[in-house]
Amino acid sequence: MTTGYVYHEIFGWHDTGTHAGLFPSHPQAGIQPLAHVENADTKRRLHELLVVSGLMDHLVRVRPRPATEEEILRVHDRAHLDRVKAQSLLPKGGDAGDGLSPFGQGGYEIAALAAGGAVEAVDAVLAGRVDNAYALVRPPGHHAEPGRGMGFCVFGNVAIAVHHALAVHGLERVAVLDWDVHHGNGTQKAFYADPRVLTISLHQDDVFPPHSGRRHERGTGEGLGTALNVPLPAGSGDGAYLYAMDTVVTPALRAFRPQLIVVASGFDASAMDPMAHQMVTSEGYRALTTRLLDTAAELCGGRVAMSHEGGYNPTYVPFCGLAVMETLAGVRTLDDPFLPIVSGFAGQDLQPHQRDAIDAAIAVPARDRT
Ligand code: ZN
Repeated sequence: MTTGYVYHEIFGWHDTGTHAGLFPSHPQAGIQPLAHVENADTKRRLHELLVVSGLMDHLVRVRPRPATEEEILRVHDRAHLDRVKAQSLLPKGGDAGDGLSPFGQGGYEIAALAAGGAVEAVDAVLAGRVDNAYALVRPPGHHAEPGRGMGFCVFGNVAIAVHHALAVHGLERVAVLDWDVHHGNGTQKAFYADPRVLTISLHQDDVFPPHSGRRHERGTGEGLGTALNVPLPAGSGDGAYLYAMDTVVTPALRAFRPQLIVVASGFDASAMDPMAHQMVTSEGYRALTTRLLDTAAELCGGRVAMSHEGGYNPTYVPFCGLAVMETLAGVRTLDDPFLPIVSGFAGQDLQPHQRDAIDAAIAVPARDRT
């Protein structure tokens, strides 16, 4: 397998400041300055592990380039783009829209490079330069909605890349699998009425955004049936995620017959993540990737492009990302030293209440396309 890899050191310079996790410091309210939970560490350390493990020697570097305004405007409205651009000129930067998504001076250019990195990953796969690709971009994108950024996301990287595949490559059916632990609301919203794009989100039930990603959110109009949400109970581990993959995701992909699969790849469903309460291990992510590649080989010539989203444990995200990229590339390097611990957590196997929740998420073929 030839696997493309997008990264640029400047992604680590996207400045989310000295927030206390989520909120700006506020001494009178007792909020002490520290670091924003979405900081460079997880991404930078994943990149460094790729180098040190030797996996990098098996990857094909794909250069990111800034997404153009035309590309960004396929997803976002002009007011959002102009607002980010204007605040990006300020010495202390601004916020993408919800007060949780700060960026520093020059943040527009870095966010545009992240979106363009996802576009380049899709381009490399569709042009056949690589078999599959992983874009380790920052800031993330899957929460950004047409009119505003949110949840640490400035622009919808995956949505912009999918629109590129439709508009420039002329694809007619693209599927997005979002395994970030939070709901991929932005990507869903971008294509909610669009029958050309199937969005599937596996997420912890009702974490972020609040009240988003319910099973009844299935698309609208022409796009009815092309949104699929699988809210998982807190505490879901490898067993639940693989059961969801086998019983919901794979059948939905088979029914939709995508020409390309794009993955919004967050590692905040890991057992070590501070922002959610799932228990997935690096081997769980490896197995999800293996199943996805098998399905992609069957449906779309193995064409898979992944774009990085969340994941907030700086010591464990790198091993989850390494497992995914090893699988994409068909190479093994280092063992995950945490695995004996996290795989032994009680409840890793599918639990009855998890099975019930997953069974309730009906795999919906959008329509009869034959
Ligand atoms: Zn997330």
